[in-house]
Amino acid sequence: MGSLPLNTFNPLDPAEFSDESHAVIDFIADYYRTVENYPVRSQVKPGYLSKLLPKQAPLFSEPIDSILEDIRHDILPGLTHWQSPNFYAYFQANASTAGFLGEMLCSGLNVVGFNWISSPAATELENIMMDWMAKLLKLPPCFLFSGGQGGGGVLHGSTCEAVVCTLVAVRDRTLRKNGHDAISKLVVYASDQTHSTVQKAVRIVGIPPANFRIIRTSAASGYSLTAHSLRAAIEADVANGFVPVYVCATVGTTAVGAVDPIRDLGKVSNEFGAWYHVDSAYAGSATICPEFRHYFDGVELADSISMNPHKWFLTNMDCCCLWVKKPSELVDSLSTNPEYLRNKASEGNEVVDYKDWQISLSRRFRAIKLWVIIRRYGVINLVEHIRSDVAMAKQFEMMVSMDKRFEVVVPRKFSLVCFRLKPRFDEDDASSINQRLMETVNSSGRAFMTHAKVDGMFVLRFAIGTTLTEMRHVEMTWKLIQAKAKDILLEDV
Ligand code: PLP
Repeated sequence: MGSLPLNTFNPLDPAEFSDESHAVIDFIADYYRTVENYPVRSQVKPGYLSKLLPKQAPLFSEPIDSILEDIRHDILPGLTHWQSPNFYAYFQANASTAGFLGEMLCSGLNVVGFNWISSPAATELENIMMDWMAKLLKLPPCFLFSGGQGGGGVLHGSTCEAVVCTLVAVRDRTLRKNGHDAISKLVVYASDQTHSTVQKAVRIVGIPPANFRIIRTSAASGYSLTAHSLRAAIEADVANGFVPVYVCATVGTTAVGAVDPIRDLGKVSNEFGAWYHVDSAYAGSATICPEFRHYFDGVELADSISMNPHKWFLTNMDCCCLWVKKPSELVDSLSTNPEYLRNKASEGNEVVDYKDWQISLSRRFRAIKLWVIIRRYGVINLVEHIRSDVAMAKQFEMMVSMDKRFEVVVPRKFSLVCFRLKPRFDEDDASSINQRLMETVNSSGRAFMTHAKVDGMFVLRFAIGTTLTEMRHVEMTWKLIQAKAKDILLEDV
């Protein structure tokens, strides 16, 4: 008779789980204590890691301590340290203790709540969190489950997914009416400041790339899309037999933090029957503060709104809130009903099955993360977190404007400051010196900024929002920028 081996492999042994998790948490805590000492932008060269790691997977088990040691030696140097207080690039991915704990719970419980029965609490907590978040952003009742008008929200991993799902819904709604061949006539509108996610979504859903209208903005409108230019573009298309299906407005554009006029664009979109989406991936979080809420005025005209708590709501990756006025339109496009998923609750139409509001079937229990964050910090601290970043950005903007060599390119609205060394001769020269300035700051390892091109100008972006950033870091980085600028300007004399 055979017998089981004495040391049965158990990859989920609670005692081992506890010991090794503590070791990892100590490792991460130590990382946060010392993160300021690492070069913010990784200084490694492409391909560095394959020189350090074995060519094959190990046959036998290795202890967690040696894995952590290799992470320290081999992986950390190849990281760009998004949690460094001197990270000012892109938009921040702000981590927090509660965000991490929520993520641990999500990962530890590891449920897959694709429909209600597969984990009722996962779906119901998500329904409740989406309403909590909607109320924090003061969204109108038409976007809330509790609003009684059929609306509701869902958590996706990214804005990209949210935009694809909404675009699919309106594509199908239109094609059901106009016939499948009409796909070549569907047109999507955005501005030259809209995030590239919309352009990608157009390609994914099969709308011809040539039917993506990128409407120009200018300094005169603060790089916002004007209702006048949207109307002109739509009217020209309608006159040529095209069908306007989707308009994307942004609150807090990626390049410069511009805000589109939500009400005015909504009126035009509604008039032409186009789906109106408001992307507030970065700045949506700021609207929990009453002083920023006015940027959402007119949002009741939207069909959908999205924002990323993983940018500025102390939420560890990943988390995107999407609210939809008529979720049934998402379901019409995205639902599938295979036999192996059929159950009484779904068939009774009493529950939300989130698999029909997203691309994938499987989904993470992200709602538990938001729940932990909101409860652990309370709205008071979340508001304070936004305000303190904005206050630092205000001071940084002031310091830039007091230095005659520099100029603030676009008036700041949130925590993003766009600035540059003033042109000495022409725009080419301005681009070249600002590019050099950014590269010298970034290669110093002491701070990391990225850039944008606006109206042909090379602009330095200084996005404040990393959780560990304090005013002393901002001041030190400004001194660093000034010193590097001085060197560059002297070199050119
Ligand atoms: N929209 C805006 C305004 C953004 O700034 C970003 C990313 O920075 C995105 C969309 C893309 O977000 P995601 O990475 O969640 O798809």
